[in-house]
Amino acid sequence: MQYYSLHNPEYKVSFETAVTEGMAPDKGLYFPETIPQLDAAFLENIHQYSDQEIGYQVIKAFVGDEIPEDKLREIVAATLHFPFPIQKVSRASYALELFHGPTLAFKDVGARFMAGCLGHFRRNAKKPVTVLVATSGDTGAAVASGFYNVPGVEVVILYPSRMVSTLQEKQLTSLGGNIQALEVLGTFDDCQRIVKTAFLDQELQAKRPLTSANSINVARWLPQMFYYFIAYKQMKAAHPNIVFSVPSGNFGNICAGMMAAAIGLPVAHFIAATNVNDTIPRFMQSGKYEPGRAVPTLSNAMDVADPSNFVRILELYGKNFPQLAASMSSYSFNDKETARVMERVWKESHYMLDPHGAVGYLGLQKYLAEDPDITGVFLETAHPVKFEDTAPKNIRDDIHTPSKVMSLYGKEKSSIVVAADYQVVKKTLMHLEFRNSELSH
Ligand SMILES: *Cc1c(COP(=O)(O)O)cnc(C)c1O
Repeated sequence: MQYYSLHNPEYKVSFETAVTEGMAPDKGLYFPETIPQLDAAFLENIHQYSDQEIGYQVIKAFVGDEIPEDKLREIVAATLHFPFPIQKVSRASYALELFHGPTLAFKDVGARFMAGCLGHFRRNAKKPVTVLVATSGDTGAAVASGFYNVPGVEVVILYPSRMVSTLQEKQLTSLGGNIQALEVLGTFDDCQRIVKTAFLDQELQAKRPLTSANSINVARWLPQMFYYFIAYKQMKAAHPNIVFSVPSGNFGNICAGMMAAAIGLPVAHFIAATNVNDTIPRFMQSGKYEPGRAVPTLSNAMDVADPSNFVRILELYGKNFPQLAASMSSYSFNDKETARVMERVWKESHYMLDPHGAVGYLGLQKYLAEDPDITGVFLETAHPVKFEDTAPKNIRDDIHTPSKVMSLYGKEKSSIVVAADYQVVKKTLMHLEFRNSELSH
């Protein structure tokens, strides 16, 4: 499969180049040249397939012959080695739980798949490549866990000191091996600025080749299709015609759902639910794309004003606004509504939402009010324990702490503290030795 730059359809690269580069040199996002079509028989018989088989069937055309079949199957199996259960929450409303992976959020799926692909492509490289990421919490944890012990790959994570939760910090700093955390005395924006500067630094790149594990990478975006099919497999017998409500920030997750529909998954409708960072709900109302500034909210992984993946959604719909509007509704909700629904759902259904899933649930309820004959699945994108600190006080103690989290609290933190200054970080990167460097060669 070839991928073209959304800034220039003439510029095409292989899957390997798209994964290794992340973004085209003209800063365009990569997009598959053709939309493959799944066999009708596969969808008909989907209940007979394992999750791993579904994943392989869904992704194989997007990879083509660039990864041998047995290797690709192995990568998919390592990506989908945890369950994706569906729980009924209230009338016609089901939660698709995406938080049973190692770092308790759906980003594990994309990060693990990308790690497998990059590890494969780098298998004969002489020098290790360094994945450099800035994180405000969730992404760095998923990337660290996904790339842990992948040969030929070293990972450096920049995170803002004292601005991630205790749990997130443990996830970023306790792995060791080929993972190194830099604790930056500054903000997330400082971390991002430093990472961007590093990618442009020829001297640093010569010493330590860098790559990004950014969420726009096709190897993080496309595997997110897997769980839409896995949800369909579980729902099909009773509810063949479902709507998906997706709590959205950068719009990668919902865009993967739309790609799943484009290759053949039956989906009645998509709901893009946002917090008060409502650029897309406003766009769907007015047809005008006017990103403001990001505002902090309870669902902080969705505090995005200018969602990078939205251009891929426009591409999928051929920039045809009426067709997009017929397939997707978009609503925004504030923190008060989010907290209130978390309390109400706990009280009435004994189901604990996290703030992101709560926004997805609210989106679904709004749509159900318009079309009561439909059945909906909302994506529960993170385990509520990840956002325990900001959960409404009167339900906070009811949040269950999984055992794998308990053991994390006991682990030792290891980070290098650096000033929010590019030259300081550069010097650290030039001299960084990984403690377990035999893993990386
Ligand atoms: C990243 C994230 C989102 C937003 O997903 P996008 O693909 O950026 O729209 C939602 N919920 C959680 C918990 C996240 O970590």
